Amino acid sequence: MTDADFMRRALALGAQGVGRTGDNPSVGCVIVRDGVVVAEARTADSGRPHAEEQAVALADVRGATVYVTLEPCARRSSGAASCADRLIECGVARVVIAADDPHPFAAGAGVERLRAAGVRVENGLLAEEARAQNGDFFRRWNGGR
Ligand SMILES: [Zn+2]
Repeated sequence: MTDADFMRRALALGAQGVGRTGDNPSVGCVIVRDGVVVAEARTADSGRPHAEEQAVALADVRGATVYVTLEPCARRSSGAASCADRLIECGVARVVIAADDPHPFAAGAGVERLRAAGVRVENGLLAEEARAQNGDFFRRWNGGR
């Protein structure tokens, strides 16, 4: 299994939630440890909890690689811990992201926070597929560009 294989699996999870997550994008998250999928989730119906916060609760993810179809959030309107902070707290080693999140609660800050904490981050893997999956969300937040 390659990075792209795991990301396709995350995209397939995200696809299951399209149209069910309100104004939030439907995000898929797959967590792999020693080459084995140990946890996976998608954004819950209505938009929360987010995919990453569900997935990290399902297994010991220390040292794992996280595949997520959208940049993890760096801030939450509810004041709850952001997904970037949760991933850091859980000790994941690497995060592979499909699409950058244009929403102001992420917008590069999720990636920055992960990197500042020593997590390896790669983004842009299957980005077009991820953007197409949440077309309305990307059109709304990229509309001014
Ligand atoms: Zn989040």
